Amino acid sequence: MNRNQVLPQVELSTDPSALRRIDFCAPQSYQGAGFLEISALPRVAEEASSLEPGDGFHWQVSTHFADSPGSEPRQILELGVKGRIHLVCQSCLQDCGLDLAQESRFIMVATEAEADAFPIEDDQQEPLVASQHFDLLGLIEDEILLSFPLIPKHPEGACQPHASSFGEGGEMAEASEKPQNPFNILKNMKKN
Ligand SMILES: [Zn+2]
Repeated sequence: MNRNQVLPQVELSTDPSALRRIDFCAPQSYQGAGFLEISALPRVAEEASSLEPGDGFHWQVSTHFADSPGSEPRQILELGVKGRIHLVCQSCLQDCGLDLAQESRFIMVATEAEADAFPIEDDQQEPLVASQHFDLLGLIEDEILLSFPLIPKHPEGACQPHASSFGEGGEMAEASEKPQNPFNILKNMKKN
């Protein structure tokens, strides 16, 4: 018998604080969707260069149980995020509105040791350690941060490169080919 047909499916709350403690040890699956403003996502808000009306991310989650050889059926979590945020353009150093999306699949495991032992060649799904108070909001934030481009910038030719963003005497063509100021990249990496 398909386990998913006998287990209750619970609708997730759209309230950010409720998403901070989801019981992924309970014998039930989840589904839900909602919209989060940037202000509800502290780590994402830290990266935003400005907050414009409409900025924020839609999220969608669904889970189901899948049979797993040699162990209990495991809960699979599918998560999608899609939305808009303003980041600093690394070419002109002005605000840049970006439409972003990311979809991922995770597998719930019981312990850290199990997560560590998870085959890293499996790039279809990442292990997550299940808990009774799982921070799903934190996971949604992680996904949004992962959706950020490595070097946020306006579309090619849509802005004037700032002189300091790539050193002395740069031209448009050079700016588009050359990697961006390593100090900016480093600064962004340190923030994460
Ligand atoms: Zn720009």
